[in-house]
Amino acid sequence: LLITFEGLDGAGKTTQINLFQQYLQQLHLPYVYLREPGGTVLGEEIRTLLKSTRADLKINDLAELLLFSAARAEIIAEKIKPALAAGKIVIMDRFIDSTLAYQGGGRGLDADLVNSLCRNILGDLVIDRTYYLDLPRAVAVQRLQQTGKAAEDRLDLIADEEFWRRVRSVYLHLQKQETRYLLLDATAAVPVVQAQIKADFSQLLEQ
Ligand code: C5P
Ligand code: MG
Repeated sequence: LLITFEGLDGAGKTTQINLFQQYLQQLHLPYVYLREPGGTVLGEEIRTLLKSTRADLKINDLAELLLFSAARAEIIAEKIKPALAAGKIVIMDRFIDSTLAYQGGGRGLDADLVNSLCRNILGDLVIDRTYYLDLPRAVAVQRLQQTGKAAEDRLDLIADEEFWRRVRSVYLHLQKQETRYLLLDATAAVPVVQAQIKADFSQLLEQ
């Protein structure tokens, strides 16, 4: 099973993924947890580049799309497919939909290009479930300010209300289109959200 977690910053993806991993451990289910970019040698190098604060390093929007895509092509071949073939559950902290939402929606890159690139990279890989944690921007801003995470990175994105709206609208569109989506209200308490994920996942296991 390939499970992805998606959502805007501050939605609590990392918290939910950590709890979900504990749950899988309790059930003695073999799994791997992966995040992008990273997880492979190339991916980690790309991560360093994308997170770099070097003043002379410029990464334009198209280059950013291609860097995320390069890391993804590699992690699919090197990590995801082998893990699935070995019968493991794969948990992804963001995946293809983040590119559709951020590079496509947020950055406004050509939708056909982004879609076909994503489709090609995904190939025959099937995402079994996407847990989408949805929350309004006001709540996200409040949370990120409280945890001090806003200062860490991407403050620009949080500050930009229009950017936020575009990213969220892609997620909400995907949620309507794709049956693999489970929409979760991320304003709910952490255990409430986790209970919904667990309930859904146990059904998925039985299928
Ligand atoms: O996964 P995490 O929430 O830590 O993502 C770090 C940042 O990278 C996010 O703030 C998001 O805005 C950005 N991002 C992006 N494009 C992606 C994935 C993440 O711009 N495809
Ligand atoms: Mg996170």
